[in-house]
Amino acid sequence: MELPPTPIVQDLVLVGGGHSHIAVLKRLGMKPVPGVQLTLVCRDVHTPYSGMLPGLIAGHYSYDEAHIDLRKLAVFCSARFIHDEVVNLDPVRKELVFKDRPPIRYDLLSLNTGSTPGARDVPGAERFAVPVKPIAGFLPRWQALQERVELLGEDPRIAVVGAGAGGVELTLAMQYRLRNRFAALGKRLAPLMHLFTASEEILPTHSPGARKRFDRILAERGVEVHRGSPVAEVTENGLRTENGWTGEFHEVVWVTNASAASWLGDAGLATNDWGFVRVDECLQSVSHPCVYAAGDVAAVDAHPREKAGVFAVRQGPPLENNIRRALWSKPGTPFRPQTQFLSLISTGDQYAVASRSGWSVEGEWVWKWKDWIDRRFMDKYQDLPDMTAKASAAQEVPAVPKGDPDPPSKDMRCKGCASKIGATALLGALESIEPFWREDVSAGLDSRDDAAILDVPPGKALVQSVDFFPAIVDDPYLFGRIAANHALGDIFAMGAAPQSALAIAGIPFAASRKSEDLLRQMLLGANAMFLTAETNLAGGHTSECPELALGFVINGLADKDDVMRKGGLREGDALVLTKALGTGVLFAAEMRLAARGRWIEAAIEPMLQPAQAASRILRDHGARACTDVTGFGLVGHLVEMLEASGASAEIDLNALPPLEGALECFERGIFSSLDPENRRIWDRAANGHEGSARSAFALLFDPQTAGGLLAGIPQRNLEDCLAALRQAGYARAAKVGTVGRGDHGGNLLTLA
Ligand SMILES: Cc1cc2nc3c(=O)[nH]c(=O)nc-3n(C[C@H](O)[C@H](O)[C@H](O)COP(=O)(O)OP(=O)(O)OC[C@H]3O[C@@H](n4cnc5c(N)ncnc54)[C@H](O)[C@@H]3O)c2cc1C
Repeated sequence: MELPPTPIVQDLVLVGGGHSHIAVLKRLGMKPVPGVQLTLVCRDVHTPYSGMLPGLIAGHYSYDEAHIDLRKLAVFCSARFIHDEVVNLDPVRKELVFKDRPPIRYDLLSLNTGSTPGARDVPGAERFAVPVKPIAGFLPRWQALQERVELLGEDPRIAVVGAGAGGVELTLAMQYRLRNRFAALGKRLAPLMHLFTASEEILPTHSPGARKRFDRILAERGVEVHRGSPVAEVTENGLRTENGWTGEFHEVVWVTNASAASWLGDAGLATNDWGFVRVDECLQSVSHPCVYAAGDVAAVDAHPREKAGVFAVRQGPPLENNIRRALWSKPGTPFRPQTQFLSLISTGDQYAVASRSGWSVEGEWVWKWKDWIDRRFMDKYQDLPDMTAKASAAQEVPAVPKGDPDPPSKDMRCKGCASKIGATALLGALESIEPFWREDVSAGLDSRDDAAILDVPPGKALVQSVDFFPAIVDDPYLFGRIAANHALGDIFAMGAAPQSALAIAGIPFAASRKSEDLLRQMLLGANAMFLTAETNLAGGHTSECPELALGFVINGLADKDDVMRKGGLREGDALVLTKALGTGVLFAAEMRLAARGRWIEAAIEPMLQPAQAASRILRDHGARACTDVTGFGLVGHLVEMLEASGASAEIDLNALPPLEGALECFERGIFSSLDPENRRIWDRAANGHEGSARSAFALLFDPQTAGGLLAGIPQRNLEDCLAALRQAGYARAAKVGTVGRGDHGGNLLTLA
């Protein structure tokens, strides 16, 4: 007998990809809790490992060596990844609020969002100083600073404010990097580094021995240390200290004591005097038991400690253990952090000082030791084990949280119409959808009739298309946007105007509130796209499916004699493609944990770009034939156009615009599962002629989701057309080939 699928009954949401959550994710990924939908929300796709930051700044590590790819880790852990920044939280409704997307719900929440150097109280600091955190903001500023100062006709003057371990390491790392850069360029410039501290000592939380060593090292390197000098004001050109010292600087870098985001306290969570979330020994909020916190953002009432990555790392396993216990409604296990810890503080030049309690030691070997520890740590998150090593999930599923109106039945799942999601969940999801209002949709979502009533104005033809596919990304809101944009592509390719859409949604087996949430998120995403396209979401149908899936019937309106069809290419036309290629292979690579997170983010961007403006621009520049490039790849869709037009084409492989990472994936032998099928078209259309071994050749067969429009443009309009497309945001629009005669030696396709 077929076992019923495991229903989704609880939502565990991790906010922030800090040092504790990476351990929580991996442990939950290796041993999942059945029925729990795990979501990671993070502002950054690649999260920095604090131990390697100074080495990254000094140039000893590459970006990828010093960052953990959260997207990849989430895929490994079967966790949903939402790339966004939380700006608020409603602990009563249990909702997370974002800047640019609708809220999401949680049953259990964990926060590991770190801290930023506190600059609020110093006039000008937020405006003119560069905070070292978030690192994603600091790195481009650091890059720009390096480029800017090498053009100076004088020695660059750089102030670092804050002389804890982070500030001292950063000062020495920046100095080392700039000196090397100037030497390589043959410039006679020397960075003048100034380090400011409010206290009389640098490294106030470290041993006197370690302080003495760094006093010596800073003096040897010519760093001017301003002790007892709290900064009172930062200006465009420098800073002023409370004791009246003023100085001009080319950059002021802020590395002072950590401060917390204000939304944590504003949300009503109990926080300490500095705004950090107060937690008990189980890392559970003292005010809201469904909320956990770890790392810099948390303040453990019973065991206050300084803000350091080492504590965040150590809190990972107990946090995971206590979250797991909470999911099973078991009491937490208290965790006591160590009082002493070993600090390995680098001096920029592959040399370091080790400090613990009253003991300290220094040398190149200390750096090598630190490097070994740091790399070993990163290996755990970068070399992910074989997926098959995951422990098989127990059959028992945690309880549905209180308040769910419709716990899922353990019986075998019904088929037919009984597989629809329940009326309560459906109505709940639809409540938040406000479709684009149109006069020519007489009965839509609001009417609750059995079918939508759509008017086709006199003289207009109805243009219809349907698309449906399983989720390419696991964030339902994002997937909704992609699926809607993909479906609209067919209508825009015809040069028609979309009028209305009917949705078909597949929802995995889940408790009623979870089904409602999934459907709401998908439809909100889709509707956001339909609002821009002035399209009414008029109705739809749902069904329980093994995985999230979504599709649409799109109805468009067009003047019958004024549509762009596949036939209509003419000899000499330039073939213009409006977007880069490679979504198929990149998502295939993501499934194999072989894609970098930033490649996928960069591939998602064009998938969300509507084809509306491109369609108008292509028509304005004389396009007579157009199609959207989707599942059959560029060649498959081009051949359809050539056959309909009685033409041939020469493709310029050098001109094909690849998405970042796509060619690298082909070179590593990764292809979409549709690739072999799509390649058959080449054999037919190129009359048995061999293709090319180059990876760009594989781009021709790569299936696209929400791909670009492909159109034939008269050569005389080509430059203007490309300029207009780029101006409208289609940055990778390109001429990819030329249309030839129909009887071109019997070959539909040749390579330039
Ligand atoms: C230059 C420098 C060097 C340092 N070196 C060391 C060292 O060698 N050893 C050490 O122990 N400590 C070091 N520290 C301190 C250390 O960086 C922090 O203590 C540590 O990073 C805190 O880790 P965390 O896990 O709490 O948060 P973080 O590592 O800061 O991670 C926070 C995560 O949350 C995400 N995030 C933040 N806000 C939001 C939001 N609103 N919504 C969604 N996501 C969000 C971020 O993108 C990030 O992924 C150093 C600090 C500096 C500045």
